[in-house]
Amino acid sequence: MLRCFISVCLLCGGFSLNAQPRADELAYQLSTRYAPYADWGAVLDVDILAKHTRTAYWSSAATICAARSEAALPLEGLHLAVDPGHVGGRWATYEGRDFLIDEGDFRVREGELVLEVAQRVQVALEGLGATVTLLREQAKPVNPKSPLDYLQLADSQVPLPKELSFDSLVNYGETVRHRAIRHSIVVGEIVERARLVNEVIQPDALLSLHINAAPWPPVGPEETDTVSGLRLVKSNHVHVLIFGCLSDAELRAPRQQESLVTKLLNGSGAEEFALGRAIGRALMDATGLPASHYDGQNAIQLDRDTPELWARNLMLLRMVECPIVLLEPYVANSEAVYPRLQAALAARASGGDLAEDDILVEYADAVIDGVLRMYGRESVPESEEN
Ligand SMILES: [Zn+2]
Repeated sequence: MLRCFISVCLLCGGFSLNAQPRADELAYQLSTRYAPYADWGAVLDVDILAKHTRTAYWSSAATICAARSEAALPLEGLHLAVDPGHVGGRWATYEGRDFLIDEGDFRVREGELVLEVAQRVQVALEGLGATVTLLREQAKPVNPKSPLDYLQLADSQVPLPKELSFDSLVNYGETVRHRAIRHSIVVGEIVERARLVNEVIQPDALLSLHINAAPWPPVGPEETDTVSGLRLVKSNHVHVLIFGCLSDAELRAPRQQESLVTKLLNGSGAEEFALGRAIGRALMDATGLPASHYDGQNAIQLDRDTPELWARNLMLLRMVECPIVLLEPYVANSEAVYPRLQAALAARASGGDLAEDDILVEYADAVIDGVLRMYGRESVPESEEN
């Protein structure tokens, strides 16, 4: 018998993926997940929304599993897209995703680390029968527009210097340049990746891979003797994010409201909740780390039994129409993780064997496990699991 590990939580609404959501179900979703701290009733009419016809380019786990034959590989029929978050390479500094602590350390660049994780995930999942598309395969932007294309926009956003000194002109030029680069490799990059997913790749789900980092604690010059002057933090944890938790201002922004309605009506909510739980559990099991916690109203925890799963209104989560889960395991600048990343980078630089507890392999294995929990068969032969 074939059976998927999909479970649709009652808290998440539980409306069938193929049925038209009812007005009361939409209201429940808005109140508990999509806009729990906002007055959504002032801008959305759930009775009208419930009459819309739903369309989706992706298939649910239940549909994929039902179409799979007994002889098929465990993930056959699944088309997964994997987003190695950020860019890395020469852009890592502008992304704010590039640091080292001391002389001789390897630079920690999130975009490059998650690219390797994504490639490992791709090879393994394709071996299990899935089709896997990476949103990027190098430490280069996907966005065809370069920073030059955003120069005019950046220029219009930076006020002219009040005095005409050499320093203020240099400062002005630097600010415009930095802003144009950020438009290109951060916002423009996310817009292009979402467009590729929705218009070209059209997968059944998207996983966006990241490694978390904590704000650097303030350190006095006498408190550290490292070259960078930075000090590692103690906290280390795991969480995964799905779309939700819009504020009043975000709800009123026409484009954000449009994305919310698309996602609310196309059935991605329950599916990404289940995928978030599967991946979150797998990451917690693999790392043994506690769940992250958000204070404030920019995120909401969705399920007491899955404390690592949070809803947040991040641009990629909002713009991608199919189920999407953004992974944030580990704290890269923590006392526990930084040495593991250094060991992993050193092993790759020397071409030596990877350690048994190699952190990038651990991350990739957890993702593979999570995908199998969501889309795989009840029992996968050992030879296929490894
Ligand atoms: Zn990231």
